[in-house]
Amino acid sequence: MQHSTARADLWARLQAPREWDLAVIGGGATGLGVALDAVARGLSVVLVESHDFAAGTSSRATKLAHGGVRYLAQGDVGLVHEALHERAAILANAPHVAQRLAFVMPGYQWWENAFYGAGLKAYDALAGRQGLGATEWLSASRALQLMPGVRGHGPLGTLKGGVRYWDGQFDDARLALLLARTALARGALVLNHCEAVALLREKGQVRGLRVQDAETGQHADVRAHCVVNAAGVWVDAVRDMDREADAPTRAPLVAPSQGVHLVVDRSFMPGGHALLVPRTVDGRVLFAVPWLGKTILGTTDTPRADLAREPAPFAEEIAFILREAGRYLARAPQRADVRSVWVGLRPLVKQQGGDGHDTKALSREHTVIVARSGLVTVTGGKWTTYRAMAEDVLDRAMTRGLLPRRPAGATVRLPLLGAAPGRPLSEPPGEHLYGSEAALLHALPGAAHWLWRDAESGHPGLSEAMVRFAVRHELARQVEDVLARRCRLLFLDAAAAAQLAEPVAQIMAEELGPDFDAAASAQRFVALAQGYGLASPTSSST
Ligand SMILES: Cc1cc2nc3c(=O)[nH]c(=O)nc-3n(C[C@H](O)[C@H](O)[C@H](O)COP(=O)(O)OP(=O)(O)OC[C@H]3O[C@@H](n4cnc5c(N)ncnc54)[C@H](O)[C@@H]3O)c2cc1C
Repeated sequence: MQHSTARADLWARLQAPREWDLAVIGGGATGLGVALDAVARGLSVVLVESHDFAAGTSSRATKLAHGGVRYLAQGDVGLVHEALHERAAILANAPHVAQRLAFVMPGYQWWENAFYGAGLKAYDALAGRQGLGATEWLSASRALQLMPGVRGHGPLGTLKGGVRYWDGQFDDARLALLLARTALARGALVLNHCEAVALLREKGQVRGLRVQDAETGQHADVRAHCVVNAAGVWVDAVRDMDREADAPTRAPLVAPSQGVHLVVDRSFMPGGHALLVPRTVDGRVLFAVPWLGKTILGTTDTPRADLAREPAPFAEEIAFILREAGRYLARAPQRADVRSVWVGLRPLVKQQGGDGHDTKALSREHTVIVARSGLVTVTGGKWTTYRAMAEDVLDRAMTRGLLPRRPAGATVRLPLLGAAPGRPLSEPPGEHLYGSEAALLHALPGAAHWLWRDAESGHPGLSEAMVRFAVRHELARQVEDVLARRCRLLFLDAAAAAQLAEPVAQIMAEELGPDFDAAASAQRFVALAQGYGLASPTSSST
């Protein structure tokens, strides 16, 4: 049966009097993973997202489907092993938006190649048959051939060689959309721009949600046997809704940690390989990753007490990334070279009793808590492990009798919509990201009308038909939804994205009709895009 994605139909389904097996709060990687796993097991599922799918942390990752080399260095073998297994599932189920990628770790000291190479061999061994390619030691000349942007000589000395290993990368927001749409196609009801504003309780037990449509202000009550709180760094606000009126506020579960990425042109790091700096001056790893025709530099790990929807980078974080990149790249990037800056908040789980200040030391594993009221809260973890987290959440809910028991494993091999091998994600965005759905795209008006081409390569990136596809099939409601998450231009080149606000709004108006305020939506996007440029002020201190 074909399920409509028209908003009016979705809202009507939400209002219909019925009881769902499961209601999920939050349309990031975690919530969408839970919704898809549950519907794939035959449960009835509703999911609400207050903003847009992946508008929180899940569109702001480094975009690596990885086991986490640095967690291996910290001895967290179980976490790495699970993530390597999940990496394989993502690459198999969504090959149009997730692929393998080669990384080079340059060595300027003899010991570095031997030391890191041995660690990466262990990484290969842990991946076993799910490995993506064997780790190799490289001579200095081979390393420079593969990474023409890297310094042969510089502040770190003369390049002695390097190590090449393989991991995965993906388009995080498009993967989230595919999870949402695949769940919808299988009968789940997923709705963006719809906030959970209260929990429905009966005899001390959570039995559903009150939701509010962000577009109309209308409310609806959604009854469900089980409610999962997957609100990312915002889980504590939902846990607060679960409090008896006179009960004291609970200690927060999440200690948010901010991570900044800078995007520069591909010319700073030509070639299809990524760079991994294994140890920055503050003891972290730093990546320079080719992604959709540009180079992503990042990231940082800075504790942050507020939970801003659009956190601003700290000036020190930008200076740090540019300085570290400049130690390795032959053409050191400057502030003026930065095309986009974006900031995400990691939902790290606070150790109870800790002050959460040193976020680098906090657990990267996820946590599931089932309250006495039955509210299931899940947070932490990584994008890569979203599917394993979903299985864990459903297992806990079934064990508590909140859901009927159904066997796990339904999503290990479950191709997402459009799944078909695509071109490398290091290349500029385009039709290849639609996989087998490209035929659907071509059937829409404006398939050959290009609104934006990648400036460096001339590659056509955004067409009128893609905007129509975003509205008709991908639940886009605002200019931001299109230019930030269906097409990733905001994250690639904020100034170029701002210039497209009006033409995109006009096409959306044709699709959405007179209720859509095109001018206001375009204006809001232009203001947002200013914050993704380096001209806007940064916070001055941590
Ligand atoms: C800088 C950085 C780099 C990272 N890099 C990687 C990486 O390379 N690889 C990797 O595997 N992981 C990476 N991660 C981790 C990964 O991005 C996160 O673990 C993951 O995205 C968290 O997803 P989530 O669904 O829990 O949270 P979110 O994506 O934030 O989703 C929660 C959603 O809940 C919604 N919400 C909140 N309150 C309500 C409400 N009342 N009603 C309805 N909806 C609500 C929010 O709007 C939000 O969309 C990175 C994280 C950061 C910050």
